[in-house]
Amino acid sequence: MKKKILIVGGGTAGTMTANNLVNKLMPEINREEVEITLISNSAKHVYRPGAMYVAFNKAAGHEFIRDQRSLLMMEIDFHVDAAVEINSNANYVKGESGTKYHYDFLILATGCEVAADRIPGLAEGGDWFYSYEGAKKIAQKFHNLKKGRVVVTINFPKTPDIPHQCGIAPVETTMMLHDYLTERGVRDDIEIIYTYPRIAQTVEDGLFLQTPTSNVLPMIFDGINVKHKRSFTLNKVDPDKKIAYSEEGEELEFDILMSTPPFIAAKVIRDSGLSQAQDDEGWLPTNKHTLKVEGLDNVYTLGDTVDLSVSKAGGTIHNQTDIVADNIAAEIRLGYPTESYDGKVIAVAQMGLSCGMPLWYDYEEDVAPTPCSKFGSFVRLGFNKGLYWAAARGML
Ligand SMILES: Cc1cc2nc3c(=O)[nH]c(=O)nc-3n(C[C@H](O)[C@H](O)[C@H](O)COP(=O)(O)OP(=O)(O)OC[C@H]3O[C@@H](n4cnc5c(N)ncnc54)[C@H](O)[C@@H]3O)c2cc1C
Repeated sequence: MKKKILIVGGGTAGTMTANNLVNKLMPEINREEVEITLISNSAKHVYRPGAMYVAFNKAAGHEFIRDQRSLLMMEIDFHVDAAVEINSNANYVKGESGTKYHYDFLILATGCEVAADRIPGLAEGGDWFYSYEGAKKIAQKFHNLKKGRVVVTINFPKTPDIPHQCGIAPVETTMMLHDYLTERGVRDDIEIIYTYPRIAQTVEDGLFLQTPTSNVLPMIFDGINVKHKRSFTLNKVDPDKKIAYSEEGEELEFDILMSTPPFIAAKVIRDSGLSQAQDDEGWLPTNKHTLKVEGLDNVYTLGDTVDLSVSKAGGTIHNQTDIVADNIAAEIRLGYPTESYDGKVIAVAQMGLSCGMPLWYDYEEDVAPTPCSKFGSFVRLGFNKGLYWAAARGML
């Protein structure tokens, strides 16, 4: 009987995995033994890191958005339909349209979303670059800012040892901000204060979520006159007085609050009953090696939805997607999965407007900061402009 593979979510994880599955299962697809369906709640595909460049007036935004269909191999059956129900007993996902999509294998790749309302006053008083709308708003503010103070704050999920989206983004954007204000000739009149919460996964009272980077950041920030403050866990914002308050009892006045807001999983996942994450955050319980949802033998997940301690980043997905695709292909052909995820993440961080820093790490080894260079930035900007689309198509 034909095997049905259903992917929910047309972002980085869903798109790469759908295309990789076609590549790996082409003989079975040609013999009509396998069918691959992807449903997404949007006809557009968004390259999310592009928003960082929009925030500093280095891109308009449309460059990073494509039609989802144009990124998918023709063998993939694509529907714009928001998943509203996951029934893992009867093996179907129901769409907003009322359609029931039945599956033999399911891949949940619905990412995560900003939940700024979880911090009182943050939605009104804060700004962030984790969406294109937010990035455009903060870009205007940065353009108009001539003097004052920018405070950077970062929130982690309440569920222990889970990162926020893209761990390095707050550091990247702090350095991009320094370069942007320098370029505009106003840097000397603007104070930048980078704060970090008391608990960042397993690191306490640090400046980053992994110790080696946390240890070198003071030197990097001191070199560009960025002030840094540990143990500032944002818990309230007064949007009228423009004051950020911490759980630890401190307060900081700001002109712009550049925030990494709280994140939660997509509503359909939070409503599914599959997650027991704290505070209804919805992270899916994921086997760190097989990438199956715990307790469900035919359901895989990857990307920002998982409850793993690894970075919620494209550089993570790039290393997870083949594990999921290979394992499903092996299950269909051999009856058992063959691959195991080792926690690998590979990325090039944008450390300022023209410096790129290659990073790699896994479950065993923390990230070690490497020299950042113009060549690194060339690779990163090349990834933004073209290589990402090749990666999404499963060609890289
Ligand atoms: C500003 C910023 C900077 C970043 N910088 C980097 C970086 O430098 N390096 C790096 O590696 N990563 C970076 N990232 C992180 C990276 O973009 C994400 O980790 C990645 O996009 C996550 O992919 P995903 O497929 O899990 O989720 P997404 O790409 O968010 O895709 C989720 C998809 O699911 C769809 N969906 C949601 N709900 C439903 C539903 N109910 N039914 C159907 N479809 C649904 C959405 O429309 C979307 O298409 C950055 C992210 C941001 C925002």
